[in-house]
Amino acid sequence: MGSIFEVGRVSPWAAKTIILLASIVMVAIRAPHGRRRSRIAAISSRRGTLEIVLLTLAWLGFFLPLIWIATPLLASADYPLRPIPLLAGTGCLALGLWLFHLSHAYLGANWSITLEVLDNHSLVTQGVYRRVRHPMYTALLLYSAGQALVLPNYVAGLSSAVAMALIVALRIGPEERMMVEQFGANYRQYAAATKRLLPGIW
Ligand code: SAH
Repeated sequence: MGSIFEVGRVSPWAAKTIILLASIVMVAIRAPHGRRRSRIAAISSRRGTLEIVLLTLAWLGFFLPLIWIATPLLASADYPLRPIPLLAGTGCLALGLWLFHLSHAYLGANWSITLEVLDNHSLVTQGVYRRVRHPMYTALLLYSAGQALVLPNYVAGLSSAVAMALIVALRIGPEERMMVEQFGANYRQYAAATKRLLPGIW
């Protein structure tokens, strides 16, 4: 007997529509922050080789699903789309985008795509930052999990999850060291009172 995840079949167009919409919403949430970031000077940057590799992976994780939508290049890694993963994944995408929006709203002018301390950088400890230190990474992990469930292709579906897992695993340490250097005891105190990614858990 197959599992509940193997019940029924849905046209891949459902996945294509949802992934395309989710990607548009993600870009729309980030665009104003990207424009504002380009007008703020960085005081110090940790954009080393590791950061460049991680950012390249993040771009791959974003573009491979779009390549899957628009071309047959990845078709050999397709598998049938089922309704339950489609629904569960759409929920994760929606939740991830909502948290992505909230994290951007609270981080405001302190956001950067890479590890940087910006002009007038302030330590944010409010809103979604009150209980976890990396809500934007939680959001991106949720989004990636959603994409893996919705997108019925082993390469494009998992690309973002692999990229985000690596980013989160390899970046949180250097990012927190940078924050301690910048904010000292204030960040240590904040870190002692919060979890990294999951409220109350880790
Ligand atoms: N890791 C955070 C932020 C990601 S954006 C999250 O997942 O929500 C990365 C930038 O955010 C870094 O350049 C760093 O300077 C900045 N940053 C991280 N935590 C911060 C905080 N609590 N307050 C202000 N800036 C922060």
